[in-house]
Amino acid sequence: MVDVAVVGGGPAGCAAALTLRTCGVVTTIIASPRPREKPTETAVPRLKHLLQSLGAGEALVACEPCYGIESSWGAPGPVLRPTILDPSGHAWFIHRDRFDASLVRLAGAAGAVRLEAEATSVSFADDRVIVSTTAGPVEAKSLVIATGSPAWAARATGQKPVTMDSLLCYWARLAVPIESRLLHVESTESGWWYVCTGEAATMHACFLTDAKGSRQFAPSKPEQWNALFQQTRLSHQHVLGDRAGQIHCLPVSVAGLACRHGPRWVAAGDAALKLDPIGSSGTATALESGALAARALLAGEQGNTAAAESYDRWENGLLAEFLKRRTPLYAAETQKYPVGFWARRAHFPK
Ligand SMILES: Cc1cc2nc3c(=O)[nH]c(=O)nc-3n(C[C@H](O)[C@H](O)[C@H](O)COP(=O)(O)OP(=O)(O)OC[C@H]3O[C@@H](n4cnc5c(N)ncnc54)[C@H](O)[C@@H]3O)c2cc1C
Repeated sequence: MVDVAVVGGGPAGCAAALTLRTCGVVTTIIASPRPREKPTETAVPRLKHLLQSLGAGEALVACEPCYGIESSWGAPGPVLRPTILDPSGHAWFIHRDRFDASLVRLAGAAGAVRLEAEATSVSFADDRVIVSTTAGPVEAKSLVIATGSPAWAARATGQKPVTMDSLLCYWARLAVPIESRLLHVESTESGWWYVCTGEAATMHACFLTDAKGSRQFAPSKPEQWNALFQQTRLSHQHVLGDRAGQIHCLPVSVAGLACRHGPRWVAAGDAALKLDPIGSSGTATALESGALAARALLAGEQGNTAAAESYDRWENGLLAEFLKRRTPLYAAETQKYPVGFWARRAHFPK
């Protein structure tokens, strides 16, 4: 039996494993053999500091500088917000496949055992947790749930996820390099688009919309997605003649757990609280959350509940701050687009 099983080998799971290993805890990461591909992400400047504090500064090799955001949020045209003058440094582009692989490797180097398997269910006994996986059961004294999914975490812990909004991201890799090292964002009546650098002379273009927008525009079909993209300012601004051949779809909900920890378990990262990518802070937050969740779990085992309470306060603060920022932004877009995607979110959260 291991001390702690961590389900999920993303930023939250790896941060938890690295933190547990620093305390000498015998840890197994159960990491899916088929992680979903993700587009390039943007991260706040403090990503570098967070990685270094976890002993994972090496993962920065999968990142490159992002010098600002050019967006039409709340404005009639694009407005540049440079990060180059930020006292904490520039922001980052994260190439997620390499980034995650690097974190898993570092957790392994710190002594965490990696089990490449899909966790299928969890059962709790008096003195242990049993995680059923496609490679057989894993028995542990405690569990960190870092699957990136509040729905999965809720199922495993016998609760219902709290879902505040459900969006979908339709993204494509275009075989054209983009010179700019900015994140370019454009809102439209049916959602918003962003483009940024990919790996190896490619760029990523992403369209976020909701279920209604998905039914109306069918952006999962390459010809529909390409036609929508051709209507954006971004595709003209960057003279993007290339057509996407494959469209990937990822869920982007605003959701979380009512209860983020309990006897022998704690949820971390998006599994505990998932926010839409407007704030560009999901991955950095997942790293911090993984570390805090692991500490709360260890403190709880020694009868100290203060760390779990402080972890809860930290997560609640994240949600409050997110809502404070998102609400005026969405309201401003609703002024620009009184019907469609933005108007449907005028009363968010319900
Ligand atoms: C389209 C999109 C764009 C985004 N853009 C940004 C951005 O620009 N900036 C930003 O900071 N954040 C962004 N985010 C959010 C960011 O991706 C997440 O906040 C972050 O990945 C959360 O990390 P995590 O470790 O909690 O979950 P994840 O990264 O989802 O990692 C979970 C891991 O667990 C694995 N897993 C899942 N289920 C199981 C199972 N049953 N068994 C074993 N393994 C399992 C998965 O394969 C995955 O590897 C974006 C998200 C999306 C979807």
